[in-house]
Amino acid sequence: MATIYGELKPSPRILLGPGPSNVSPRVLKAMATPMLGYLDPEFIKIMDETADMLRAVFGTTNTLTFPVSGTGMSGMEAALCNIIEPGDEIIVCIKGYFGGRIADIAGRIGGKPTVVEAEWGKIIPPEKVEDALKKVKAKVVAIVHAETSTGILQPLDEISKIVHNHGALFLVDCVTSLGGQPVDLDRRCIDISYSGTQKCLGGPPGLAPISFSEAAVKAIKNRKTKVQSFYFDMNLLERYWGGEQRAYHHTLSMTMVYALREALRIVLEEGLEARYARHQCNADALKAGLTAMGMKLVAQEGYRAPMLTTVAIPDGVADANIRKALLNEYGIEIGGGLGVFAGKAWRIGLMGESSTQSNVLLLLSVLEKLLSREGYKVEPGIGVSAVVRIK
Ligand SMILES: *Cc1c(COP(=O)(O)O)cnc(C)c1O
Repeated sequence: MATIYGELKPSPRILLGPGPSNVSPRVLKAMATPMLGYLDPEFIKIMDETADMLRAVFGTTNTLTFPVSGTGMSGMEAALCNIIEPGDEIIVCIKGYFGGRIADIAGRIGGKPTVVEAEWGKIIPPEKVEDALKKVKAKVVAIVHAETSTGILQPLDEISKIVHNHGALFLVDCVTSLGGQPVDLDRRCIDISYSGTQKCLGGPPGLAPISFSEAAVKAIKNRKTKVQSFYFDMNLLERYWGGEQRAYHHTLSMTMVYALREALRIVLEEGLEARYARHQCNADALKAGLTAMGMKLVAQEGYRAPMLTTVAIPDGVADANIRKALLNEYGIEIGGGLGVFAGKAWRIGLMGESSTQSNVLLLLSVLEKLLSREGYKVEPGIGVSAVVRIK
């Protein structure tokens, strides 16, 4: 006998982890919009509008800009499998967990990754990229903009210049930064970039916006071998997402396209500058509060990402107890440490809809209570008052 389980009733959550972030009711409502056929002229128009708004958020006029199906990782796969052919040299900058994945995938495709490393919690110094480019004739240099495992926001301008001086293509993972900090593909001469919908764009997980510059498109057209992935082959996908004669490639999730379209409308209505300022302001407040409570931020000062804060778990405090209590007693999710930071740091996300002053104040006051319960000494109200005192 089949069991019929109960109706879906997830508890309300305040999502302050590394993603997903909270989703606006407007986006949820858009997801209840009825299906259209994948070649229905009305759906094609919705796809075009979505791609167009994506260009505005990416800061690009790149024709080859649209979301691929799947989460942020599908963007990573799609970017690498189109640009890398077996035997191609790629320099991968690794300063955390996600840089490591780029190197892994590049190798699986048959590329030859050369790794440039920085300690977890630090940026990649541009000189290191230059040194690597002097040794290796790389086709691509890849780097993560906002490294979600460490809370570092990597400066890109100088590295971009170095990469292009050596005639390589510049690939940037913008999964966590897009919609929360300027990505500015055209101004920064970024050739290949991908993102995800569930971080600062304020959508549910399920699509990966991606964009290729003219130089990157040329490199794809000049490939000697077919793209190994049918699903992510840009040559095929571009005939569905653009051109006069739209051709079926795979069935898009209309629901996800509706969601992304609505999320992008919200981003552009708020205004990019205002949105970046909001992310920065709430992150500054959180950091001020945590510091006032005597906690240590682990990402290099001056390069701390506004959408993700890493903070050291105080000595003697049990990681799991705090995160469990946050979730079970207050419905608040924060992230545990990843990789080198596992058990050592928490990852607090303030992304998209989740980036609000009230969430900051709530988290600081609840943390104070839970940390005191664990025996950590903190002056009552000091975190919250540090925030309230900010102009
Ligand atoms: C979240 C994330 C990814 C992976 O995205 P998924 O949506 O989990 O597949 C890749 N890179 C970075 C920097 C991320 O933060």
